[in-house]
Amino acid sequence: MPEPYISVVIPVYNEEENLPELLGRLKASLQAIGKPFEVILVNDGSRDRSLEILREAAGRDPHLVVVDFNRNYGQHAAVFAGFEASRGEIIVTLDADLQNPPEEIAKLVAKMEEGYDVVGSIRVQRQDSLFRRMASRLINRVTSMATGVQLHDYGCMLRAYRRGVVKTLCASKEISTFIPVLADMFAGRVTEIPVAHAERLRGESKYSFFKLIRLQFDLMTSFSLLPLRATMTVGVLTAILSMAVAVVLIAGRLIMGRDWAVSGVFTLFAALFFFMGVLLFGIGLLGEYVGRIYMEVRKRPRYVVRQVIGREPEAKP
Ligand code: UDP
Ligand code: MG
Repeated sequence: MPEPYISVVIPVYNEEENLPELLGRLKASLQAIGKPFEVILVNDGSRDRSLEILREAAGRDPHLVVVDFNRNYGQHAAVFAGFEASRGEIIVTLDADLQNPPEEIAKLVAKMEEGYDVVGSIRVQRQDSLFRRMASRLINRVTSMATGVQLHDYGCMLRAYRRGVVKTLCASKEISTFIPVLADMFAGRVTEIPVAHAERLRGESKYSFFKLIRLQFDLMTSFSLLPLRATMTVGVLTAILSMAVAVVLIAGRLIMGRDWAVSGVFTLFAALFFFMGVLLFGIGLLGEYVGRIYMEVRKRPRYVVRQVIGREPEAKP
C-alpha cells in the first residue's frame, strides 16, 4: 500500500444499518478521486453489530482501518482517535449516518488543493427537523460571538483539514473540545463550501435534547470566558439597580409613612429571591470552570483504544 494522501475519519456509534451502504459509496467516490487513500473508522463502543461489520470489511479491504474503543466516549473523542491514526496529507471527517454524502469529498479535496488549511462545509437544504435547524441557528450565532471564530455551520462534520492542523489538534490535550472551532483557531486559511445534506435514513440521532445542551455548554466554557464576564456584568448591574430601588424605598417610606408597600415585606422578598438567583447562577458557573480545571489537571487519557484492526503495528525503531 502506498502512503495515503487522503485519510477519511468516521466516528461510528450503533450504525449497523448504515455501514454497508456507507462503505460502498465511500469506496466508489474515493477511487474516483484517484489518489491513494485510507478510511479510518472509529468504533465508539457500539452495542450493535457495527464492530463485526467493520471487522469483516477491514478483512476484505486493505484501505480500511478500524480503531475500537473499549466503551462510548463521544463523537469528538472518536474523531480525535481517528486523527491520531491518520497518515494522509489531507484529513476528511464525515458522519457515518450518510447525512453527509461521501460523494462531496472530492469537492473538499479540490478546494484544499487551492491551498487552504481547513475547508468547512455549509449544509444546503438541511434535512433535519425544524427544531434542530432553529437550535443550530442559535448555537452558531452564540458560538461565533463567544469564540470569535466566524463559521456558518459548526455542526456539520463534513470537513477537511491539512496534516499540520490535525497535528496541532492532537497536541492540544484538552478533555472536552469541539473540533471544528479548535481547528479554525489554529488554521491559517479557512474557507467553507456548500454541500448537500441528506435525511438520516436508518437508525436514530445519537444526540438527545439534553446532550445537545451539554455540548453547547461545553463549547461555550471551553473556548471563552464570556459566561464568566457576563455573570460579572449582571452582578454589577443588579447592584446598581438595587441601589436605585433602595432610594425609592427610602423616599416612599419618608413620604407615605410606615405602611408603605406592606411595610416593605414584598419588596424585601423580591429583592432577596432575585439576588439568590444571581448568586446561585454565578456559583454554578464558577463551578463549571473549576470542574473543568479539575478534569484538566488529572490529565486522564481522552479514550482507551482496545484494538486496531487492519493495520500492522508500527515497527519500533
Ligand atoms: N457518534 C459517535 N459517538 C457518540 C454519538 C455519535 O461516534 O456518542 C457518531 C455517530 O455514529 C455519527 C456521528 O457521530 O457517525 C453523528 O451522530 P448523529 O448522526 O447521531 O448526530 P446528528 O446528525 O443527529 O447531529
Ligand atoms: Mg446525523
